[in-house]
Amino acid sequence: MASTPFSVLTPPSTTTTTTTTHSSLSEEASNPSMALLSSSQLPSPAPQRHSSSPILFTTLLITTCVSIASAMAFAFLLFSSPSHVSASTIISSSFARPLTKLPHPVVLLVSSDGFRYGYQFKAPNPNIHRLISNGTEAEAGLIPVFPSLTFPNHYSIVTGLYPAYHGIINNQFTDPISGEAFSMASHEPSWWLGEPVWETVVNHGLNAATFFWPGSEVKKGSWTCSPEFCRQYNGSVPFEQRVDAILDYFDLPINEIPSLMTLYFEDPDHQGHQFGPDDPTITEAVVHVDELLGRLIAGLEKRGVFQDVTLILLGDHGMVGTCDKKIIFLDDLAPWIDVPSDWVQSLSPLLAITPPSGFSASQVVEKMNEGLSSGKVGNGEHVKMYLKEDLPERLHYSASYRIPPIIGLVAEGYKVEMRRAESEKECGGAHGYDNALFSMRSIFVAHGPQFARGRKIPSFENVEIYNLIASILKLKGAPNNGSSSFSDFVLLPFA
Ligand SMILES: [Zn+2]
Repeated sequence: MASTPFSVLTPPSTTTTTTTTHSSLSEEASNPSMALLSSSQLPSPAPQRHSSSPILFTTLLITTCVSIASAMAFAFLLFSSPSHVSASTIISSSFARPLTKLPHPVVLLVSSDGFRYGYQFKAPNPNIHRLISNGTEAEAGLIPVFPSLTFPNHYSIVTGLYPAYHGIINNQFTDPISGEAFSMASHEPSWWLGEPVWETVVNHGLNAATFFWPGSEVKKGSWTCSPEFCRQYNGSVPFEQRVDAILDYFDLPINEIPSLMTLYFEDPDHQGHQFGPDDPTITEAVVHVDELLGRLIAGLEKRGVFQDVTLILLGDHGMVGTCDKKIIFLDDLAPWIDVPSDWVQSLSPLLAITPPSGFSASQVVEKMNEGLSSGKVGNGEHVKMYLKEDLPERLHYSASYRIPPIIGLVAEGYKVEMRRAESEKECGGAHGYDNALFSMRSIFVAHGPQFARGRKIPSFENVEIYNLIASILKLKGAPNNGSSSFSDFVLLPFA
């Protein structure tokens, strides 16, 4: 199968990312992505219908809940945690803390799928808030890459590459040259470009272990996905069993303990799709994730290694409700252009179209936009079609032959369907939208020897995380789209 080797691709400048990363909090407020905020996009402190709350009330509620959460977290820090530190330590700890038990740094990367930024305030979630209070948090969440989908984002987190460069441009897609189909069960190395961090780790002669992560079952370089250190995906494995298996690695002879471990939970993405981000089932799922973190922390403490381990809690993307008849039907474009279903690679929220040869892609874009903006297509004004090379540069979504030539940007919470009769379920949740939307952000909390306690950093894109892990493990990372200065900005130096 033909593929574009990473070596021939020149990653674009990461100026945007660097600017975001290093902007002060006050600059964050004037960030264009923050300008997209509306009251309905702000994190929901408690289950509530997000479309009906007046802005003032919502703001007050959020402010109050954030304050309560912060106060609770601080109380935890001071009084509840067996490993608490004094307030003066929080302020004065400007150097990395030396390892006390482990002979080498260990990074434990935990992903909670679809954990929208703000979910942490839905309940007390003492374990998440313990990590926040004693660690470093992206104050307004982690920015996903576009499209804000599970596979592209998980693989960006571990490679530091935008999807156009790591090759996983959607959860499912067809290679336009070979005609082969990629699915979430495809493990052939030719699909998965770049160098995932577990490969970087084993290339340096260290151990890595994956208890699920998109791409982890792919054999690449010296990463062979051995049964001992790499689990074949099976969504029915109970979450508690996953946590316990990770803890078991800490019982290995001390020099064999993997330097990198990944742990993946499908929740609360699953519930978010079914019921939307404001449903009480999300709160239950988040509370469960918090309990799992409690189990993990307790296991690490029992082994005396919690303070030595770098625990990074994050998610791949957020979630937004898709209620209120926010649907666009492609059939409604018939007076302007017929878009048959076999042109459509994916519908929603990433509308991706490949017209057959003989059709001009730019004419298809023109006709579709003419119809969409005519005022005669229901919700048409909420979709805009682009040739991929004309997409906003900040999306980094054009430099791969795998990306279909025509991409439609669908407004937050809207859905695209082929025809009216196919509309089955109106209300639920979705992600995959523009990564500048606040609702697409996830959580980032890092706790460990090189992370300052109680520090807040501005939001950043998840392509920075690969370099961060490489720095903590003192490894030379592969070329990627992250900025080289990010680790210096975030990590505490050694004294
Ligand atoms: Zn999902």
